[in-house]
Formats: sequence, structure tokens, C-alpha cells
Amino acid sequence: MENMIRGHLVLIMAPMASGKGVLLSHITQHYPEVKRLVSCTTRAKRPGEVEGKDYFFISRDQFEQKTQAGEFLEWAEFSDNLYGTLKSQLLANLENGNVTINEIDLHGVRSILSLIPKEYCTVVYINAGDWETLKARALSRAPMSERELALRHIHYLEEMTYKDSADFIVDNDDLQLEEAKRKLSTIVESIISHTHT
Ligand code: 5GP
Repeated sequence: MENMIRGHLVLIMAPMASGKGVLLSHITQHYPEVKRLVSCTTRAKRPGEVEGKDYFFISRDQFEQKTQAGEFLEWAEFSDNLYGTLKSQLLANLENGNVTINEIDLHGVRSILSLIPKEYCTVVYINAGDWETLKARALSRAPMSERELALRHIHYLEEMTYKDSADFIVDNDDLQLEEAKRKLSTIVESIISHTHT
């Protein structure tokens, strides 16, 4: 695979309610040459989410068919839902020399880093406050069962263990959205300028 890579992959690790949607939209609006990967998920669409932009929302059966057909570069089960990165999208972008941005969890980061040499990947961690802050924000936008909250809390704690290994940490608490956009933009601009297109 290494010989075919001309682009660069930016992996965004972000806990729930961290403002990742706003930050990623900001990047794709301001840098149209940056391609955003759209993962497949079996989770229900939340208010405001758009099919084909935030995710491809598919059934568990459809997801399992894609898994069996080898369509995912990596996939993970989290909080009773499946999430997967489509091989076709990522490889086409990397071969075409595109800077490509993908929001992904720790399991996905580890899988992708085992497949793509680190020099073609940058990991950015969005740090958006403590669990209680994130939980309150998440509950204000959509209800969540106690079970889902407990699973997401465990996930949050696991993801946090990677924070200091990320290449960049972007702070995004409520008062810092503009600053977070600026910081992420600076990171992306630097990657664009170093990537063969
Ligand atoms: P959410 O349901 O809040 O949108 O996402 C839950 C978790 O799934 C987040 O940590 C997010 O980064 C992760 N995720 C989203 N897409 C993918 C994917 O394609 N693969 C993996 N491994 N994780 C993903």
C-alpha cells in the first residue's frame, strides 16, 4: 500500500459532544481540497445529522454484508452500534494525493496506524472538557439511556489514555470554539502545504 500513497490522512479523535461536527465542517468549508471520509454506522441518526455527510446510516444486516464483502478497512463495535471506515473511500483519496480527514475512535486509530505508515498520518485529539461537562452537553441535544451513557463513559476514559500520544491536542471547551477552529486550521494548512497534490 505504501507505494500508492500520495496523500495524507488526518485522524480526529473526539469524545462525544466535543464539537467535532462543527470543527470538521469548518475545515471542509474552508479547505475544499480536504476530503472528509464518511463512515458507516448502525447507530440511529441524531437530530441535525445528515445522511452521507455525518455518516451512512445503515442497518446491522447491511453492515454485516459489507464486513463480509471486505468493504471496511477497519470497523469497531461501540455502545451496541457498529462503525466502519470504507476501504474504497480512503484508498482512493490517499492514491489521489488528497489530504483526507477521518473522525475515528482509538480502536480505529490503532488499526489504521498498523496499515498506513505513520509519516502519512497525523492524529489530532479534540479535548473538550471533563466527563460531566460532555455528558450534560450530550444530554441537552438528545436523550441517552443509562446503559449508553455508561458505555460512552468507559469509551471516554479509554480514549483519554491516548491523548498524550496524539500528534496535536486541540482544546475546545465552550469558550474556545473560535480558537479551536484556528488551531485545527493551522494544523491542516501545514499538512496541505507538505502534501503532494
Ligand atoms: P458517535 O456515535 O458519537 O458519532 O461516535 C462514537 C464513536 O465512534 C466516536 O469515538 C467516533 O470517533 C467513532 N467512530 C466514528 N466513525 C468510526 C469509524 O469509521 N471507525 C471507528 N473505529 N470508529 C468510528
